[in-house]
Amino acid sequence: MSAAPLPGSPQVAYQDDALQVEGVALADLARRHGTPLFVYSKASMLEALAAYQRGFAGRKVKICYALKANSSLAILQTFARAGCGFDIVSGGELERVLAVGVRGADIIFSGVGKTRAEMRRALEAGIGCFNVESEAELEVLSEVASAAGKTAAISLRVNPNVDPKTHPYISTGLKGNKFGIAHERALEVYRRARELPGLRVAGIDCHIGSQITEVAPYLDAMDRILDLVAQIEAAGMPLAHIDFGGGLGISYNGEQPPAADALWQQLLARLDARGYGERQFMIEPGRSLVGNAGVCVSEVLYLKPGEAKNFCVIDAAMNDLPRPAMYQAFHAIVPVARGGGEPAHYDVVGPVCESGDWIGRDRSLAVRPGDLLAVLSAGAYCMSMASNYNTRGRAAEVLVDGGESFLIREREDVADQLRKEKLLP
Ligand SMILES: *Cc1c(COP(=O)(O)O)cnc(C)c1O
Repeated sequence: MSAAPLPGSPQVAYQDDALQVEGVALADLARRHGTPLFVYSKASMLEALAAYQRGFAGRKVKICYALKANSSLAILQTFARAGCGFDIVSGGELERVLAVGVRGADIIFSGVGKTRAEMRRALEAGIGCFNVESEAELEVLSEVASAAGKTAAISLRVNPNVDPKTHPYISTGLKGNKFGIAHERALEVYRRARELPGLRVAGIDCHIGSQITEVAPYLDAMDRILDLVAQIEAAGMPLAHIDFGGGLGISYNGEQPPAADALWQQLLARLDARGYGERQFMIEPGRSLVGNAGVCVSEVLYLKPGEAKNFCVIDAAMNDLPRPAMYQAFHAIVPVARGGGEPAHYDVVGPVCESGDWIGRDRSLAVRPGDLLAVLSAGAYCMSMASNYNTRGRAAEVLVDGGESFLIREREDVADQLRKEKLLP
């Protein structure tokens, strides 16, 4: 069999035809914990973080992990211990981060629909900054903070109107998106923020999209944000920090996104050239820290040959791995034990009653029922998007750390799912 390297993390690799994560055999983990099973490499996450840290050596930068990519507590712990702050988008995410012992000051709060209750709780927790996404939200936050006798540090999320050249569902910095405040209105909204009680202008923020694989959209967004910083500061409002959001892509299928350190070398050169090199920066990476660190192990249930297509039915489905159904996303799918028989072409699908329940199309695989497959690059936007559709329990999760493995989430059972429901009298 070919020894071409797998896309994604070097921590996920074959040893004697058996797929391993940090040297731990996935077949053993599947036997112990069942399937579908998410398995993450801690070393892979820390390596991804280290690339950013190298890029930022000697700079004032706070890396705030965007936990919507994967919000499991043990993963938050891993990043907290490595010195990260966190970017949250809901009150639920706030409680997750607080539950692992993170200080409020190390949390920033993004999102277009923050409720009053979420704002109050975040103020109580002493949150570092609210990234405000609309004029209406600014007014409400001012009211809530004043009523609580607090001052909310804010930055406005500005929409720089650049095309990140990614899937439309994960592009967020264009005019037609629901996110952020239009570039043209930003100065006026900052003036309003300065007048409002309960608010303190702390910075500026942008986030242009996700799975970005080119440098140019970042440079464009940076130029547009720096133009605004100059205008806002000329109007007498100093901005203590500039937050460039997240969005850096990963390799799912041979894409070649810039490495985090190489990307930031270019971006920092631009910042230096424009005289902003000494500023406090923040970034909010999600996918690029966890995406390639995870795999989902699944068992082949049935092979279903057909006239037009062959189907390989596995025990993971769109409720576990929603990205193909949502964005036609690609995940590499490889055997856990390599070297079995003649390959055939299959659409790899799950048991859910939807034609959209496919995990991979037209894949060449040598498989038999009972074999294990690994869906690669499944660390981001998989478990955190998982649902109970078809009353399927959410999968278990294991973190591998240098040869040791830890069950970090038990498999959800039916009782877990029925607990909140009530029969009619
Ligand atoms: C989703 C999100 C991120 C993280 O995006 P990635 O593509 O996972 O890096 C960062 N900031 C905000 C505001 C987000 O909504």
